[in-house]
Amino acid sequence: MSTALRKILFILIVVIILPFILYTSMEISTLNEDEEMLEEIYNRQLEAILFSINQYSDDIVSSQAREMEADIDQVTDPGFESQIPKASKSLYFINLRTVENDKVNYWYSFAELQFEIWKPLIDSIFNRHSLLTDRLVAYKESGFRKIEPLGSISLDQREYSLLLYLLEKNDVMWYCLTAVEPTIFTEQILAPKMQEIAREDFVVLVKKSADRSTVFATDTLTGEEVSARALWLLPDYEVAIAPRGRTIKDIVSERTTVNLVLIVSLSILMLLGFWLVFSNIRKEMRLAQNKSDFVSNVSHEIRTPLSLISMFAETLLMGRATTEEKKQTYYSIIHKETARLARIVNRILDFSKIEANKKRYDKALVAVNDVVKQVAETYSFHLQNKGFKYQVTYGEQLPGIQGDPEAMVEAVINLLDNAIKYSDGVKNIEIKTGTYGQFVFIAVKDHGIGMDPKAKKQIFEKFYRITKSDVHDTKGVGLGLSLVKHIMDAHQGKIMVESELGKGSTFQLLFPVDKINHKQNAEDISR
Ligand code: ADP
Repeated sequence: MSTALRKILFILIVVIILPFILYTSMEISTLNEDEEMLEEIYNRQLEAILFSINQYSDDIVSSQAREMEADIDQVTDPGFESQIPKASKSLYFINLRTVENDKVNYWYSFAELQFEIWKPLIDSIFNRHSLLTDRLVAYKESGFRKIEPLGSISLDQREYSLLLYLLEKNDVMWYCLTAVEPTIFTEQILAPKMQEIAREDFVVLVKKSADRSTVFATDTLTGEEVSARALWLLPDYEVAIAPRGRTIKDIVSERTTVNLVLIVSLSILMLLGFWLVFSNIRKEMRLAQNKSDFVSNVSHEIRTPLSLISMFAETLLMGRATTEEKKQTYYSIIHKETARLARIVNRILDFSKIEANKKRYDKALVAVNDVVKQVAETYSFHLQNKGFKYQVTYGEQLPGIQGDPEAMVEAVINLLDNAIKYSDGVKNIEIKTGTYGQFVFIAVKDHGIGMDPKAKKQIFEKFYRITKSDVHDTKGVGLGLSLVKHIMDAHQGKIMVESELGKGSTFQLLFPVDKINHKQNAEDISR
């Protein structure tokens, strides 16, 4: 890797990869925190819901108290029943007694309990909670009615919760002690509120704290309850809430998975992007390097024939060629070098046409053997001259292809030129035609210097030449194979290369068989 490329890689890592690694690691670490926060917010919401149920039950009892308070001065013992608020069906008994001296004592019981029998028990409750009763009075005097739960009592084998609060009218204060039946209280008073809260999303339930048995539930509980709070007015009971369907844990872990998948895919995309940018830059840099090599290669390529032409022309002009034989040799050198110059210039012109998208191909039904024959005929003298042995093997009954014969000749000449250029020891070239699946091929095989398998991909890039000293000595500008590739692309064909360093190379051009006229074979087409 060149220093410039290493520098770019370093910059890319600093500018893209490092911030990204920092970002993803931060994201992953905050993921957990976010989820914990989410869970906490959710749990707080649930607590707020449970709080609202408690608040609601407090409001209901307070409004009952207000109703009784309004008419308390008209209460008479037998008529007491009519003054009981309608909503208080859960009440088992009510005992009203004045705060001052226990002067008046009203008693009402749904179960028609005799007050005389219960009075000692009720009195003992009041005595036990004397401190509390004093506190309730102090609250009331400052304008606030507190509803105080006094725990449970067992009556007729049923549990009742006791509630104590104060009523006041015309400067007379009353204690109001009520026994509430928790199940009825829950089912008739709390249930509508619980249903309203639960809707489709939750199951809200009231449970007995001691044995965790369910007293009431808005629906059958499927999951786990996530939050529970004691009921203020019924301290032996608690209200609990459970999400229906997916729990918050499910949602949180689902979100974590989704986020992780996102981060991982983002990382993959990022790395992919990084690789794309880097390999493009590398390609562009290589192209720039190849371009500058191209200029020096072209100058070098042109200079040799030019100096030969100028030298021999001058010799002829000055009349230094004494014999006719010498003159002929010089003319033929000038002719050969001019042809070489023309080839270089043509190749560059061809290339610039391709670059400008101006290269046109005139396609017709072509017999591949004809193309090879044409090249072999023109090149046989040249090959022999250079000391090459060569064999041409023509495939029989080859199907026709759609091609531009001139361009095809050009492609084969380029391969042959390379085979000649890159052969040093064994000067043997084989040309072969045949079929390969749905293709007709032309193969050019040499036993020359071969190439490193790694170079195989790059040799078709424009201006590319293998940068090895023995190759650099060989003439060339790095355009031949890129022209061949362009010709093959225009024919929807392929090029295959097999090569081994020191052993030689085989280049194979594959042309797709003309699907419509494929039955016509080479002989038919030539005719
Ligand atoms: P040029 O021959 O002008 O350098 P090409 O595009 O024809 O350019 O070839 C690109 C490179 O591929 C050459 O520089 C050479 O290294 C390598 N190459 C092409 N043909 C052969 C071959 N037959 N044997 C070995 N190397 C070859």
